[in-house]
Amino acid sequence: MRRTTHPGGPVAEPAAGSTTHGEQPETLRLLAVHAHPDDESSKGAATAARYAAEGVDVLVATCTGGERGDILNPSFGEGPEGIDGMRALRRVEMASAARALGVRQQWLGFVDSGLPEGDPLPPLPEGSFGLVPLEEAAAPLVELVREFRPHVVTTYDPSGGYPHPDHVMCHRVAFEAFHAAGDADRYRREGGAAPWSPLKLYYNHDFSMNRIRTLHEAMQGAGLESPFGDWVESRSAREIPEREVTTRVHVARYYAQRDAALIAHASQIDPDGFFFAIPRDLEVDVWPFEEFELAESRVPTQLPEDDLFAGVRELVTTEGAGQ
Ligand SMILES: [Zn+2]
Repeated sequence: MRRTTHPGGPVAEPAAGSTTHGEQPETLRLLAVHAHPDDESSKGAATAARYAAEGVDVLVATCTGGERGDILNPSFGEGPEGIDGMRALRRVEMASAARALGVRQQWLGFVDSGLPEGDPLPPLPEGSFGLVPLEEAAAPLVELVREFRPHVVTTYDPSGGYPHPDHVMCHRVAFEAFHAAGDADRYRREGGAAPWSPLKLYYNHDFSMNRIRTLHEAMQGAGLESPFGDWVESRSAREIPEREVTTRVHVARYYAQRDAALIAHASQIDPDGFFFAIPRDLEVDVWPFEEFELAESRVPTQLPEDDLFAGVRELVTTEGAGQ
């Protein structure tokens, strides 16, 4: 059977650049869209590392600079001055995390909204990502999708995964870009790249109650103190409806890279905190995968899956394939 490269998805008139390229081998491409620097290291990190190790071109897009993050690691010492200082620090940390995962990373240029606290909640700071109108907020990502031409895009579910305004906004812009980037009539820009329709959209589910409870019970079963007790017992956590998991990617071999990437975010991640409270051999035993929800697919695929590129590999001529 003749294999073709990217078919361009169901755009009415496939545009140049998203049609077939003859039999030229093409690299599979994965775009992981995240709200802040460090989110790529706590959600889908081992998956990104695995695909990168397997030759997939993996690009992390980070919506904001994480400027309004607090210093969350008690052993970090004093943080930098102001949001400019924080932005500069987190750029260095992000570069180090990307190296640990073996992926590329690009900033989308928005400003962290911060996590509003209080009752009533205070308004978001002027100019922050959570306040940017959708069309303006999605434009840089649409452009990036057209330039990078990912086959698969990952992001958060509509709730953001947790109630940070930037995470909700991250979902909205990724969803918008997934649908709009292939439409030549939308987000037109003089000299911009040709339209491109990614083939699959996934939501990260690494903080599901199922995972937390499984790790919690395994810790207790091993006679260890679980860091998740409050989480499992909290009524509000139990009331969050579980989203569907369609896809489990086996990534235990890449947990060391995930951990190195987390540690790289030294201002944010406490090396003695809950991310590192689970012994790795126990984690590998009971939870050797990362979970995703297939939200949209423009290719046929059978659920459940164990590969984000299921149904895509058949369409793309890659090096070593096509026999
Ligand atoms: Zn975040």
